[in-house]
Amino acid sequence: MSVDEKTRKTLSELGVADAAGVEALFAEVRAAMENERQELVSRGASSEKERDQLSKALRDRWLARKNGLLTFIDENWLKKAAKELKPAVGKSFNGLRQVSSSVGIDELLKVVPVRPETKAGTRESVATEYDATSSADAFVEYPPDLTLPGYRRPVGTIHPVMRMQREIEEIFLNLGYSIEGGPEIETVYYNFDALNIPESHPSRDDWDTLYIDSNTVLRAHTSPVQIRAMEKYGPPLYIIIPGKCYRHDNPDASHSPMFHQIEGLAIDRDITFADLKGTLDFFAKKLFGTRVRTRFQPSYFPFTEPSGEVAVSCFVCEGKGCRVCKESGWIEVMGCGMVHPVVLRNGGIDPEKYSGWAFGLGIDRFAMVKYDINDIQLLFQGDLRFLEQF
Ligand SMILES: [Zn+2]
Repeated sequence: MSVDEKTRKTLSELGVADAAGVEALFAEVRAAMENERQELVSRGASSEKERDQLSKALRDRWLARKNGLLTFIDENWLKKAAKELKPAVGKSFNGLRQVSSSVGIDELLKVVPVRPETKAGTRESVATEYDATSSADAFVEYPPDLTLPGYRRPVGTIHPVMRMQREIEEIFLNLGYSIEGGPEIETVYYNFDALNIPESHPSRDDWDTLYIDSNTVLRAHTSPVQIRAMEKYGPPLYIIIPGKCYRHDNPDASHSPMFHQIEGLAIDRDITFADLKGTLDFFAKKLFGTRVRTRFQPSYFPFTEPSGEVAVSCFVCEGKGCRVCKESGWIEVMGCGMVHPVVLRNGGIDPEKYSGWAFGLGIDRFAMVKYDINDIQLLFQGDLRFLEQF
């Protein structure tokens, strides 16, 4: 956003909420003013008449009582500032007013040079100007004002979804798993058929899939990468698969057509449900704290058998019942199960020799639970007032 545009907005519209922000904003304005002045000074004018015109234009742009930038700053920033910001804005504005005499007409007429030999617009004049601005002479004649404050570049923060994802990855990396990725535009075979969800199977309706054509979809889950990894590496396999998924969901407080999943997959000889329970219990305690308990309930997924839902005891109320756990004392966090023999076979692994378990969870939902966010849309709107809190 240009300085011009910013002066047309109020501080709260600009997201400036503290004294440091005010200071940075005014520093930007001062730098812009000084830049424009320097530019005019180093460019010069071809005649006295042009010098007067250019100087007046710059003066009016900044200082005109009506529509000058300082007037907008007075109206939109100072007068409309929140009460607690007023002193800071007033102080910075006074400082700006003082230095703004440098774009007053008297000052400009003193420093803008007239160079009648320069023919504006010709190749010669461009070369001359270039020489003038780049030579050491120009630097001596018009030195930059070293007392001006520098630009303050805002420092970004890690998005809550990425923060959550990294935290989960870290736990599994420490257990010896590696991270695997795959395409977001996927074939129907990898998204459904290979995962034991044939076309005629009613459970295919559970996924509100976005089809690109009859054979290509935006993947509805990260599970296709399980098959791809089995084909690529073979057993034994210990991986986690984070990534974006897509479904035909209307956006509301708990749904988004794009969301993030992370899956885990362990395949080896003699893997049992006990390994699944032990690993996921360890994971939940690492993530939510050692006092958390896990609960496994039977469930159904086409690609696992048996399948389960995992809930953790509420880490806010410790099971007594609160808003976060909807008074139940438990928070459902993921689906899991032993990899279906058909899926192993589709991945080129012999289910007679190998077995495995898998889990899948929504990273966005985890972030919402962990950081107490009540609307999933907040995660994807890019509003700095929200994101700066992390
Ligand atoms: Zn609770």
